Amino acid sequence: MTPIEFRRHLHAHPELSFREHASAAFITERLQEEGIACRPIADTGVLAIVEGRSPHNRAVVLRADIDALPISEATALPYASQNEGIMHACGHDMHAAILFGTLQRLHRQPDFDGTVIAIFQPAEECNPGGAAKVLAERPFEGYDVVAVIGEHVDSGLEVGEIGLCAGRFMASNDELRLWVRGCGGHAANRAKITDTVTAAAHIVTMLNAVNDEQTLLSIGRIVADGATNVVPDEVYLEGTLRSFDEGARRTAWRIIEGVAASIDSKFGTTTAVDINHGYPCVINDPSLVDFARKAASDDFRIVELSPRMTSEDFGRYCSEYTSLFYRLGVGAAAGGSHTPTFNPDERAIETGIDYMCRLTIKTANEYGTAKE
Ligand SMILES: [Zn+2]
Ligand SMILES: [Zn+2]
Repeated sequence: MTPIEFRRHLHAHPELSFREHASAAFITERLQEEGIACRPIADTGVLAIVEGRSPHNRAVVLRADIDALPISEATALPYASQNEGIMHACGHDMHAAILFGTLQRLHRQPDFDGTVIAIFQPAEECNPGGAAKVLAERPFEGYDVVAVIGEHVDSGLEVGEIGLCAGRFMASNDELRLWVRGCGGHAANRAKITDTVTAAAHIVTMLNAVNDEQTLLSIGRIVADGATNVVPDEVYLEGTLRSFDEGARRTAWRIIEGVAASIDSKFGTTTAVDINHGYPCVINDPSLVDFARKAASDDFRIVELSPRMTSEDFGRYCSEYTSLFYRLGVGAAAGGSHTPTFNPDERAIETGIDYMCRLTIKTANEYGTAKE
């Protein structure tokens, strides 16, 4: 099967996070047809192994995500989604097809030393994410992992362009929920009530101080369901905390708890704080980025990217291994991801395979060795 046929099949049959049963079965069958060894991982994912010409424990790990989104497709493509209300609107079908095509080529012509481990990973779109589940199974035990490499399609880049960013690339992402509680009552009776609304307003203002160059905190929802003459018993707040630095992120968690405690002691409220920890930062190893830039030579146009405040569960691999997450151009005509009309240019599949093969072979043979 060609990578484009592979992509179109996945595109027509998208599945939501942690429910990628048919996708995993399809990927397994196609790999087996090629004679590529594979097994299930993280329930609805697939791990494949391609041995090089001299197998040893040096391994390059390639990761593609495979889940889709709860969006009704409106592209009118002949291979549009057949699963009502679900769509590959983030390009994970492209990632999976590029990884499949890369494995096909590497398996047919294993011009590398060591082992390539490929992860078709479930559930990138849904906290706590499939990467945590993959890593919890310790699939790389016994291997010396040289690098973990992943990619994401990008309509901000044209076909043939590869986007790189050394160091901090994508932010961590935590969800914040606060319940400011007290004894509300008649708004004219201030001496007898707890002013939950003013307490909540102070919390919002004080939390604003968390914002700096590498950390962002926004409260997006406030519910104080009182009236002109009623102060409610509870005010609910929710928002997002994002950071490019794991240390700053942990400091922000402590600040949030501290702000709530200090406002409670001032206003007599009782504030419950829930910080739902999302994905960690995506940090690209600078020397691996440099290596990837050189590997592109004149055959791919490298675009230097700025850090972005969106997040990716690829950050879990970055926390444990030397990692690289790059962007692959699919053309501005693709439109925005996470929309019903997202339509990446399929010519990017060939570019994606060419680049991933070259980078994988070079990394396996040279990265971190005297040859580099
Ligand atoms: Zn997405
Ligand atoms: Zn995505």
